[in-house]
Amino acid sequence: MAIINNRLTTAQYEANFADIHPPYESITAAKVDAHRCLFCYDAPCTKSCPTSIDVPKFIKQITTENIKGSAHTIFSSNIMGAGCSQVCPVEKLCEGACVYNLLEEKAIPIAKLQRYSTEKAMENNWQLFKRKPSVGRRVAIVGAGPAGLSCAHTLSKEGIDVTIYEKESKGGGLMTYGIAAYKVTPRFCEEEVDYILSIGGIEVKYNQELGKTISLAELKRNFDAVYLGMGVGVARQLDIPGEKLEGVVDAIQFIYDIRTKGYPSVSVGDKVAVIGMGMTAIDAATQAKRLGAQEVTMIYRRTREEMSCTQHELDIAMLDGCEVIWLAAPKKVKGSNGKVKQLVCSIMKLGEPDASGRRAPVDTGETFSLDVDMVIKAAGQVPFEKLVKKYKLDNKNGKLVIDKNCATNIKGVFAGGDAVNGGKEVVDAVQAGKDGAKAILSYIRVK
Ligand code: SF4
Repeated sequence: MAIINNRLTTAQYEANFADIHPPYESITAAKVDAHRCLFCYDAPCTKSCPTSIDVPKFIKQITTENIKGSAHTIFSSNIMGAGCSQVCPVEKLCEGACVYNLLEEKAIPIAKLQRYSTEKAMENNWQLFKRKPSVGRRVAIVGAGPAGLSCAHTLSKEGIDVTIYEKESKGGGLMTYGIAAYKVTPRFCEEEVDYILSIGGIEVKYNQELGKTISLAELKRNFDAVYLGMGVGVARQLDIPGEKLEGVVDAIQFIYDIRTKGYPSVSVGDKVAVIGMGMTAIDAATQAKRLGAQEVTMIYRRTREEMSCTQHELDIAMLDGCEVIWLAAPKKVKGSNGKVKQLVCSIMKLGEPDASGRRAPVDTGETFSLDVDMVIKAAGQVPFEKLVKKYKLDNKNGKLVIDKNCATNIKGVFAGGDAVNGGKEVVDAVQAGKDGAKAILSYIRVK
């Protein structure tokens, strides 16, 4: 067993990482699906979208070939509508709410239609929003992820001059660095960021990290308001023996490497264990398989009923040939010569519900072992606890606490997205950015 890179041919990498949801090839194909929409009154698809995109309206616009209008409808509610059409768990949002499900018929492919209109807008660089003349107010945003970009775009439309401080060398946050490459390519993410910024009035300063190269005091001094949208922090550790052995890696880092280094450069084991059952765990497991791992086993301490990924996501992993062991928790990583050789797991059973409302896993005292050469940890992320405490920001275990106006306990400092909720969907962060911008506009009395 060995952890090596360059396991496949170029053609194999391309096939394994090809777009999982191919787009429409023609307007005719898009119109055929659009014409199936019933244009429901009080549409449940719109209600289930965190950004409240007017779904029947944008689909109707496709039927009349008003693609520019359709894109405008989408972007008015969600400026990351293009990316969201590729990464949203639509089976539990708009498409899951489509009335066709009640008729036991195939839901309208809302995401695919949304992708059609928004990609046309990006390809043609249609400028659908005009920035008002500058009103002479300046806002600093920390983080160029979905919350920060959405906040910046909303503010810029109103003539606010925005400066975003981003710790990475590219914008997009989780979209650019933390999602499986077969769902959305790094290149697409770059194009989406450029498209959002093309409204003007937004400067992005890359490689700038709060607490390191910039301070909150400095931002407060130089700007009329500050919005914190820096996402969640580092990967949660397992705190088990053997965690430092060579071959134990963080899922976030693994996915980041795939997106930034190129597929052949990323090493993967022959036999891989992935700890966790959230979306990040699925993205790590499927991509380990697609990089050429022979066996990938997902380890989850609860059951299918409690998993945080969707059934659709689990199906992708199963179709890729990943195995799942339910009711198992990592206990120890065993190694030889400093390298991973085995993962010892405790067999769990379900007890009483915990704080999350899900039945808590309880150790039965029994164990089993898996021969593996790589362990990928995807047990969630820990918020930037040290950072928020350093700035005396109200928080709950590192998650920022805000009031109904998105304001933190520090005057003029607002926050939203994963930094507040601990990690939800991209579309939730986009809405948080809009809410934050609205609150800031009211605070600096622009609206
Ligand atoms: Fe169209 Fe389905 Fe939405 Fe009704 S629920 S408006 S059919 S997409």
